Amino acid sequence: MHEATDSKFHPQLYDYIVVGGGTAGCPLAATLSQKFRVLLLERGGSPYGNPNVTLRDNFIVNYLNQGSDTPVQGFVSTEGVPNARARVLGGGTSINIGFYNRASPQVISDLGLDGSLANASFRWVEQVVTSVPRLGPYQAAFRRSLIKAGVTPDNGASYDFQVGTQTGGTIFDDQGTRRPASNLLVYANPRNLDILLHAQVELILFSGSGDFLLAGDRSYGVKYSDPLGRTRTTLLKNLQGEVILCAGTLGSPQLLLLSGVGPANQLFSPSPVESALAQVVGITAPFGNFIEAACGVAVTGVPGARAGNIIEKVAGPLSSGTLVLQSKNVRDNPLVTFNYFQDPRDLQTCIAGVNTIEEVILANSFRPFVYDNQTLPSGGTVGAPNRRNPAFAATINTTIANYCRERLTTIWHYHGGCLVNQVVDSDYRVLGIKGLRVVDGSTFKYSPGTIPQATILMLGR
Ligand SMILES: Cc1cc2nc3c(=O)[nH]c(=O)nc-3n(C[C@H](O)[C@H](O)[C@H](O)COP(=O)(O)OP(=O)(O)OC[C@H]3O[C@@H](n4cnc5c(N)ncnc54)[C@H](O)[C@@H]3O)c2cc1C
Repeated sequence: MHEATDSKFHPQLYDYIVVGGGTAGCPLAATLSQKFRVLLLERGGSPYGNPNVTLRDNFIVNYLNQGSDTPVQGFVSTEGVPNARARVLGGGTSINIGFYNRASPQVISDLGLDGSLANASFRWVEQVVTSVPRLGPYQAAFRRSLIKAGVTPDNGASYDFQVGTQTGGTIFDDQGTRRPASNLLVYANPRNLDILLHAQVELILFSGSGDFLLAGDRSYGVKYSDPLGRTRTTLLKNLQGEVILCAGTLGSPQLLLLSGVGPANQLFSPSPVESALAQVVGITAPFGNFIEAACGVAVTGVPGARAGNIIEKVAGPLSSGTLVLQSKNVRDNPLVTFNYFQDPRDLQTCIAGVNTIEEVILANSFRPFVYDNQTLPSGGTVGAPNRRNPAFAATINTTIANYCRERLTTIWHYHGGCLVNQVVDSDYRVLGIKGLRVVDGSTFKYSPGTIPQATILMLGR
């Protein structure tokens, strides 16, 4: 178990990334770790050593202590009903009332679960975190009174769901000490499980269609931040791996929405959007960056999609890459490495471009296409951008640098495999060879124009 701020901990590649170390997340991570490499990311801290969490008698003290980083995070529904969610390892089991009762066989069946597997799993849980309490005079009197009031039969003490009155289970032991779901981590294979505390997952990363999520895309990792505001990316080992959201009833749908999965009216533009690929370009400076936009069905693949995509091309990158053969078969691609941002000046160019893009998004003329609650690369939202808040001035470029690295993609203008004066001469003759020329985009040191095809067409002519 590590703190997300621990600079000595470096996430490896995992078979499973479990988001949320709560009631479901802890037993899931423990189980998966028997066979697989697992990372469990929890936004809260440890319940252990915090008597507000561990002691039954501090339940209400803990519940009412709702600060910005406390184990209980308060929220109020739009109807005005106060409520609470967990922000601590163990999740709800670290802040709740601890009463324990199995679902009925009918409910298990309705959930589509195998009855005997469910029973074996209940027992697996119960061996570690539950017991039947010894009743004191108040609870015993309440029990007798229920029966007297006709809530029968008397089912004794049981974890099962049965009509009538029963003494149920509790996750508090007889001394009143809480046994949260994180106690189930005793079942884990510690060599296979890394747990990060205070790791707030912000985004699920997807590969496939680029910035727009389409059916068939796959998640390949998550982005999380630590309490110091530093963000990190952690990745799955291979295509068999999965990100599993266990962030709870509010947290999991919230993360899906933030990552672009959900109802279109919460994710896309308020106004209709035409179908267009790039038609307008902003050239910020010679060899600075080129900013273009594409929108609608042409770029999303979804008819009527109210979405657009603003891209920045780091023009004339100073980083350079390599191309080598990986087989003797010409049908195989050669092995290509671009070394993106190898030269730090390319990262600075990207940062400058993202700053411009944010000003574009915040411009009045763009208002019809953005929601106030839409997030920005540098943090904050369209309605309250971090870039307008002096408190973020010192860190904003670091945040954008991380964004540049994480959102890095291609716009296909690769060039430079057969450079003039290195592979060909100024008449495009291959150096040292007779009767052989190269005439195409591979001869360019920089991709010409904002986009290369005009110059390549011209060159051919
Ligand atoms: C005060 C209270 C009393 C209750 N009493 C009982 C009771 O007596 N008996 C009972 O059966 N049920 C009770 N419940 C309900 C029960 O505790 C919950 O239904 C259950 O714990 C939910 O489990 P979960 O796995 O869905 O979510 P949780 O256990 O809440 O787990 C979600 C976890 O994900 C983490 N998380 C969320 N977002 C992120 C993110 N972006 N990045 C990283 N981590 C994240 C959270 O910090 C949390 O630890 C009570 C609940 C409360 C709040």
